[in-house]
Amino acid sequence: MPLTRPTSLATALGARGRDDELSRARFAFDWNRQFELSLDPETARAYHDETLPEEGLKDAAFCSMCGPKFCSMNHSAKTQKFTEADAKAVLGQIGVTGAGA
Ligand code: SF4
Repeated sequence: MPLTRPTSLATALGARGRDDELSRARFAFDWNRQFELSLDPETARAYHDETLPEEGLKDAAFCSMCGPKFCSMNHSAKTQKFTEADAKAVLGQIGVTGAGA
């Protein structure tokens, strides 16, 4: 695969800024933004689209490598949103009461 020049967006942000922005896009499952920030957007998009070409999957919380059930990024994001109320609801469902009160 031939190496290409960084995109103007990647150049404008600088290496650190682009890397940070790419990490944020990855965490948000914003695939189009990830492609934009890639050093070679066309190749990045082409690889992604080999298995998930549908436009509706450009914000899917997974890719084809691990799939929707085993995406650790997806599970990590859900963990961060898990609240104390969620924990109490789960404990209530399994019959544990008064935990942590
Ligand atoms: S499916 Fe796997 S490789 Fe793809 S985003 Fe999730 S953790 Fe990363």
